[in-house]
Amino acid sequence: MGEKTQTYRQVRENLEYSMLSKFATKASQSRGRERDIKPCTMRTAFARDRDRILHCKSFRRLKHKTQVFLSPEGDHYRTRLTHTLEVSQIARTISRCLRLNEDLTEAIALGHDLGHTPFGHAGERVLNELTGHFEHNEQSLRVVEVLEDGCGLNLTYEVRDGILKHKKSLVPCTLEGMVVSVSDMIAYVNHDIDDALRANIISEIPSEYLAAFGDTHGVRINTMITDVVSSSDGKAGIFMSEEVQPLFEKLRKFMFENVYFGSKAKSEEGTAEQLIRSLFTHFYENPAEIKRDAELEKYGLVQTVTDYIAGMTDRYAVRVFEDIYIPKGWKKY
Ligand code: MG
Repeated sequence: MGEKTQTYRQVRENLEYSMLSKFATKASQSRGRERDIKPCTMRTAFARDRDRILHCKSFRRLKHKTQVFLSPEGDHYRTRLTHTLEVSQIARTISRCLRLNEDLTEAIALGHDLGHTPFGHAGERVLNELTGHFEHNEQSLRVVEVLEDGCGLNLTYEVRDGILKHKKSLVPCTLEGMVVSVSDMIAYVNHDIDDALRANIISEIPSEYLAAFGDTHGVRINTMITDVVSSSDGKAGIFMSEEVQPLFEKLRKFMFENVYFGSKAKSEEGTAEQLIRSLFTHFYENPAEIKRDAELEKYGLVQTVTDYIAGMTDRYAVRVFEDIYIPKGWKKY
């Protein structure tokens, strides 16, 4: 390539200025990475981050981590991986309509739940109780900053900020991060309704929500996305409208009361919590079995055991538990 010829990345970076809204985060203005690296000739920094996340081991493990239903028997229930993909698609649609940076949005969405424990929020609760503080969004950041590949993925500041702040109570520094936050809620409320109906946890959706959002899964998501786009267009924030927001919150509350807490979808959570507790105790007392000497020295026992258990898939946690606590010979019967 001649000296004056632009790389594909530079062409793309320039296009962002003409194509994207003034509120979009431009890749060439990124605050950068912790460790400087040579820019890619083809991809912008955010597109590169998206690829780094997609190709990492923690991402593949999401396939076998619980979303809401613990180790579901049916093949049609969501897992943490399909949840992540649904969040990503919703967020990209919103970002594209608002002419925000779709690469940044996708990178944040694909990375936002990498720190989720096995057995969903049951695992998170136990680790929080045992260590005094554990939150999956902070662990997601730890995965991409420290744990993956032993030195983190060296992502840009904006992607890391969006991953850390995808919780409702936190405010990301970019609109793309805010888009992922609202898309996370739209995704889980809708797919958890779908899964709860499939599992007969709820038999129907109250009529006020059907009337407001629509009578099919697709229409409901579309209604919410459309509302976010039209309420946020041309603004320096991401919003739902004054009509939709309170009803959406009420629907979330309905899900918390009827699905997330105390329903039969949660009946195995006590067992899952006990399993995580047992694993934690075992590895806390036998750290040599983790074989992570460098980490033990660097981060201490509690953090190392926490990282090890948080990274497990549901089925790996069960397998390790069986290896430790179930007498050999029983396993096959
Ligand atoms: Mg999520």
